[in-house]
Amino acid sequence: MSRTKERRFTASTLLAAAGLAVVALAMPAGSQEPIKVKISRLGFPSLTTMMVDVVKDQGFDRKHGIDLQPQSFGVISAYYAALATGELDMAPAGPHVLQKMRLEGVPIRAALTYARLNALAVITADASVKSIADLKGKSIAADMGSSEYQIMAIYGRTQGVVFGKDVTVAELRGHYHQIVYTTGAQTDRRMGIPGEDLPGSHPATEFVAWYNGHPDYRDCQFDLSQERVAVVGVGNVAVDVARVLCRTAEELERTDIADYALEALRQSRVREVYLLGRRGAAQAAFTNPEVKELGELAGADVGVLPDEVALDALSREALEKSGDRAGFKKVEILESYARRPAAGKPRRLTLRFLVSPVALTDNGAGAVGGIRLVRNRLVASATGTIQAQATDRSEDLPVGLVFRSVGYRGVPLPGVPFDDKWGVVLNEKGRVLDPDSKQPRPGEYTAGWIKRGPSGVIGTNKPDALETVTAMLEDLAAGRLLEPADAEPAAVERLLRQRQPLVLGYADWLRLNALEVARGQARGRPRVKFTRVDEMLAALGNRSSG
Ligand SMILES: Cc1cc2nc3c(=O)[nH]c(=O)nc-3n(C[C@H](O)[C@H](O)[C@H](O)COP(=O)(O)OP(=O)(O)OC[C@H]3O[C@@H](n4cnc5c(N)ncnc54)[C@H](O)[C@@H]3O)c2cc1C
Repeated sequence: MSRTKERRFTASTLLAAAGLAVVALAMPAGSQEPIKVKISRLGFPSLTTMMVDVVKDQGFDRKHGIDLQPQSFGVISAYYAALATGELDMAPAGPHVLQKMRLEGVPIRAALTYARLNALAVITADASVKSIADLKGKSIAADMGSSEYQIMAIYGRTQGVVFGKDVTVAELRGHYHQIVYTTGAQTDRRMGIPGEDLPGSHPATEFVAWYNGHPDYRDCQFDLSQERVAVVGVGNVAVDVARVLCRTAEELERTDIADYALEALRQSRVREVYLLGRRGAAQAAFTNPEVKELGELAGADVGVLPDEVALDALSREALEKSGDRAGFKKVEILESYARRPAAGKPRRLTLRFLVSPVALTDNGAGAVGGIRLVRNRLVASATGTIQAQATDRSEDLPVGLVFRSVGYRGVPLPGVPFDDKWGVVLNEKGRVLDPDSKQPRPGEYTAGWIKRGPSGVIGTNKPDALETVTAMLEDLAAGRLLEPADAEPAAVERLLRQRQPLVLGYADWLRLNALEVARGQARGRPRVKFTRVDEMLAALGNRSSG
């Protein structure tokens, strides 16, 4: 890691929109030496140099006493690792890239802006800006170009120990005999279609995190004044989203949904929800109890199009061949929805199959106004899997809100071998492999979604974890372990507290849990969650008990 000595600003903040970056540096008073700032943008290295040239051309580097040093990285994982370790100070990018990086856990301080700007880069020495929280709700005038913009959402990591930022692999190796990576799949896949980034189009994970009260997402905004919503994907997450949109306030009150989400959903004007699957009913990833529950919603009729759920010959053959009784049952449940007359409930949920989104269309005011779908047919691939093939038939579905739930992906962990193709830690049965020799790296293991990819429910992780733990026990018996210099638990505790004074432990979690449940009891709810880190810390007396 090459942390530049001269760089002593207390906080650096990056904002970006459509090629515009704002960097706020709180510089030491009276500093004469230019602060060296390593900067790189994701994508073509030449664009970083171009961007720096423009900044220099405009004299902003001199004005703000900084010396911009363009860096380039050959692969995305090296770029992320450089951000995570602090080797790189700035990463200008558009809102989408910043959002993706945030979801992938890259500890960049970034704020998504809602702006139409023609300027390329803005650097300000506003010393009052110590962290992104200081920017919340502020209108900041661009230093270059003429536009003003409003910060719509603030992104940043909350408290906690972040692997790769607060602690590195090398440090863990110095303290543990075995390390297990279980960081899950921290980012969602994109649809890769025009209009995907229009306001009104969101990753489903963001909505799920919002209604579950995740502090990083509680300030997200979803336009629930829209009457028609599309949820792209037919997995359990898509079902969860559709269910929350369709539930009545009375149904929601019985859950532990975040308070603010309950209030927002109470005011919701959503009337029509579409769940969109690209293949047929037999290939849908949702599980039977979940889809059955959709038929029991108090305030929403559920419907399907009969020709989209009828079992085709290819799917029937595949289900018979694999003896998939649950698959037959799933089709049966869906077919029963085709026969069910509408009961005139205030909302309607329609499950659509054999359709792929090809574009999100603009409503004329710069937001989502519809989704263009192409109809698919099912074909067998060379390997025998059933795939969707586009036909020449298409349709436009008017919707004002879109949630995409088309899969998840693991993100690389700095210093840990990664399989870019599958988005998982490079491993064999849970043992992390050296990328060159393909032999196990002693003492390093992985489990869960970052080991096998994003599949299955919580229970699916159990046999997976068993395999990893079996490998760990075998290696323990054979003495294939790391050789830590200091394996005392207190040494790790010291290290973590030094890096992250507000590190919280299991005892803190138990206390917070008890407090949330007690708050819920007072209001006849399973729990009332704390949804701000400050609130959680205050409830814990502003200190952790380890
Ligand atoms: C939106 C959604 C809804 C779901 N709903 C259900 C459901 O209702 N029922 C069900 O059975 N399954 C559900 N699943 C599936 C279930 O969540 C997964 O099977 C399970 O969480 C995978 O476990 P894991 O341990 O691999 O990862 P996770 O549970 O994701 O745990 C990974 C942990 O690592 C942390 N982490 C990541 N990077 C770092 C880092 N660099 N440093 C430190 N910590 C880090 C994360 O914060 C997280 O706490 C859902 C999945 C999604 C995406």
